Amino acid sequence: MNHTAPLIPVRIVNEYVYCPRLAYMMWVQGEFAHSADTVEGKIRHKRVDKPGGRHPETAGEDTGEIHARSVALSSEHLGITAKIDLVEGQGRKVQPVDYKKGKRPHVAAGAYAPERVQVCAQGLLLREHGFEAGSGILYFAGSRERVRVEFDEALVAETTRAIEGLRTDSAKDKPPPPLMDSPKCARCSLIGICLPDEIGFLAQQREDIRPIYVRTENAFPLYVQSPASYVRKDGGQLVIEEKREKIAEVRLKDTSQVVLFGYCGMSTPALHECFRRQLPVTYMSYGGWFIGHGMGTGHHNVQTRTAQYRASFNEQTCLNLAAGLIQAKIQNCRTLLRRNWKASDDAGDKAPPQLLGALKSDMQQAGRAVSVQTLLGVEGSAARRYFEHFVFMISPQKNEETQGFDFSGRNRRPPRDPVNALLSFAYAMLVREWTVALSAVGLDPYRGFYHQMRFGRPALSLDMMEPFRPLVADSTVITAINNGEVSKKDFITTAFGCNLSPRGRKAFIAAFERRLSQEVTHPVFGYRLSYRRLFEVQARLLIRYLTGEVKEYPTFVTR
Ligand code: SF4
Repeated sequence: MNHTAPLIPVRIVNEYVYCPRLAYMMWVQGEFAHSADTVEGKIRHKRVDKPGGRHPETAGEDTGEIHARSVALSSEHLGITAKIDLVEGQGRKVQPVDYKKGKRPHVAAGAYAPERVQVCAQGLLLREHGFEAGSGILYFAGSRERVRVEFDEALVAETTRAIEGLRTDSAKDKPPPPLMDSPKCARCSLIGICLPDEIGFLAQQREDIRPIYVRTENAFPLYVQSPASYVRKDGGQLVIEEKREKIAEVRLKDTSQVVLFGYCGMSTPALHECFRRQLPVTYMSYGGWFIGHGMGTGHHNVQTRTAQYRASFNEQTCLNLAAGLIQAKIQNCRTLLRRNWKASDDAGDKAPPQLLGALKSDMQQAGRAVSVQTLLGVEGSAARRYFEHFVFMISPQKNEETQGFDFSGRNRRPPRDPVNALLSFAYAMLVREWTVALSAVGLDPYRGFYHQMRFGRPALSLDMMEPFRPLVADSTVITAINNGEVSKKDFITTAFGCNLSPRGRKAFIAAFERRLSQEVTHPVFGYRLSYRRLFEVQARLLIRYLTGEVKEYPTFVTR
């Protein structure tokens, strides 16, 4: 074998036999996601992973009993490495014992192929180290049963083939295609990353889509906005203090990210713990400007970023992606106006057909744009049209409390009126959400296809959020105003602009989070999922497009 190639862990050989794509994503792309199965397996292994017993590093003349736990062995010749749960035997005659969670399957071979191959690979490693290993044991903790696996010629050949197959696949720059209609996918911890049915559908290999595996959203962002606040770690909790008094605490396992506004502080142990858990920590200015974020060592998948950078130098790819995103944005703006148009003295109770028609024609023009420059022009005039009519989505004010939300057009840096202050804040929140989502899947949020590269500008986040500006940000602004969640008392207006007060910001963040948790139907795949989860799915679909697995990036539009 090639001596510079990294040794393959035998647990990945097991995954390869289960599904070659799964092994590729785990081994080459460094993807991992916990499922109930993997969590339980990890806990069980923790118990047997403590080294101990009489160690069988090399086989000698010794005829004593061997019973050694957590034995690490490697072989350059075989190209594999393993930590064997238990090696037991006498002198040179030993057998590997591999612990499995769950019950013994009632199949003719005693166990499924991936597990049999894995224990056989461990046996081959022991043989390489001078032992005689003719069989191995799979111990099923769920039913407390031992299943003997004979290392016969057929199994050794299957194991060798799997190692070679994985070695060959891992040298390629694209993962093997997903399994089609396989029952294995339902139990696969990476189904939300792999998206087998979605890719099959987009490649027109299947007509129906099974409902996507949607992770339970039981962790949420922690927002800390008081400037006197300090976040520290206490065991498995994050404690928020003000003037050394505890004002709140949250469990780290219930936290999906930490968002710090202004100059509130965070202890180094708390930062370390967040980074260890790959929890993003985001810094926003007190006025709500997205300053930056940190996230442990980040995603290790270099292939994804390589594909992104390569595509970003291709003008046609940039234009195709940008046109799709801008068309989707205009369509979603049009839908928002159509759905939320309010009756007023100045207009009827339905969005004027001329306006809807003009936006439709903007959409078509965006689709025909021959350059990113042309597209910028089309986007600009559609945005002007949209914002000229934005005020018609705000309810005619009923009382003094809800008055003060007049809007005559977009202004920013700084915003000069409450509606613009809300819009700017909502867009900053959306950029942050997309930056976190893109970083989490391994994309570089700073290299975009439509927005120009500029130091510190998350260009890809700005690209990807385009279709979601109306659906998430503008929609939250309209809802928060129309429901009276923010009133004019929630703004501080000075000669330097208009900004949300702490109470107003708190109320708006709650409305924004509610919107992210709201479920929508995916227009292409037809299943329902929250906006928060949708961002991740769209980001992963972008990767599949950039790596050439699907021909088009499906943008998100609502009807
Ligand atoms: S979801 Fe299915 S195709 Fe994708 S990695 Fe898992 S088993 Fe393989």
